Amino acid sequence: MSVKKLIAGNWKMNGSLAANEALLRALASGMPVQSVCAVAVCVPAPYLAQFQAMAVTLPALDGIDLGAQDVSAKASGAYTGEVSASMLKDFGCRYAIVGHSERRQYHFETDTLVAEKTQQALAAGITPIVCVGETLAEREAGQTESVVKRQLAAVIHANGHCISEIVVAYEPVWAIGTGKTATPEEAQAVHAVLRAQLKAATDHADRVKILYGGSMNAANAASLLAQADIDGGLIGGASLKAADFLTIIAAAVV
Ligand code: PEP
Repeated sequence: MSVKKLIAGNWKMNGSLAANEALLRALASGMPVQSVCAVAVCVPAPYLAQFQAMAVTLPALDGIDLGAQDVSAKASGAYTGEVSASMLKDFGCRYAIVGHSERRQYHFETDTLVAEKTQQALAAGITPIVCVGETLAEREAGQTESVVKRQLAAVIHANGHCISEIVVAYEPVWAIGTGKTATPEEAQAVHAVLRAQLKAATDHADRVKILYGGSMNAANAASLLAQADIDGGLIGGASLKAADFLTIIAAAVV
């Protein structure tokens, strides 16, 4: 298990200049004085600059890293609407989510595309948070393990020895935004499968953080984060409420 846990907020397509400022100020003032875990917020692309500017005047934001919610599979060029990894780097991004189930579902992202996005992020010095997870139908058909292994295998295959530089997020699709959470035991079982897959690919698998995501909240975070192979959380809804997000951060003591 990696040493420090990572708590990453995924704001999704929420926020405004005013709402973000209030949320970031509340987070900054509530952050633990001694860092107990790594913390990041993955904001909508137009607000990356706002975070960067606020971090200059609000030193307490130092303990929070910036992340994007997606990255282009291309380095530059005629790809209207896309945002490249080097652009994210310009705005101080440390992380980029890739392969979130909402992008796989609504934007038809394939395992191959997700692997290419991972490559672009790594090449720019950005840590990709690679999301994998099964749908309810796949779980009920007993396919959870094969689905997450297929999704991760594409990323391992494309990234070779760099694979130890990624973060993986196990996000069962049926648990995202639904209020239904995998039990700690269910989540741990899948995390152990992913850890074993990483171990077969790299000698540094223990360095790879495997986050759980899917209705993690202030009430259930501690029991999920206590599992041996759960190295943090990717948090959607609860990351929009400063008090809840701060409670999850406090639960991530190693
Ligand atoms: C997510 O979108 O990555 C997520 C886990 O959302 P929620 O916490 O709202 O289920």
